Amino acid sequence: MSIKITEECINCGACESECPNNAIYEGGIKWRMSDGTSLKRKNIKLLIDPNLFHEPKENDFYFIVEEKCTECVDFYDEPQCVSICPVNCCIPNTLESKEELLQKKIFLHENSSLR
Ligand code: SF4
Ligand code: SF4
Repeated sequence: MSIKITEECINCGACESECPNNAIYEGGIKWRMSDGTSLKRKNIKLLIDPNLFHEPKENDFYFIVEEKCTECVDFYDEPQCVSICPVNCCIPNTLESKEELLQKKIFLHENSSLR
């Protein structure tokens, strides 16, 4: 599953730098698929330009880009944002299998031949 941040977030920012996929953004900040990933150019799996800025998913507190969250699989044993959050507001979101999360991680970071 991917993780999401609830409105209990106190905007401490502790989670942002812990994410291996750069999937966590401060409220009100535009995000890109290319931030912190190897997706720098349009590829066959990603129909839109990875450098395109997307509107923030939340404005008042930190948010996680579901498309980039892999639950830290293949980087760490547990989701880093869940471990570090002082108010436990990082909770399970969409249901994805470990294999699906691993494929997402490969897509984000090791897909240079398809770029
Ligand atoms: Fe990033 Fe891992 Fe948290 Fe997902 S679970 S947002 S990959 S730190
Ligand atoms: Fe919000 Fe928790 Fe991240 Fe702090 S660590 S910004 S409280 S989600």
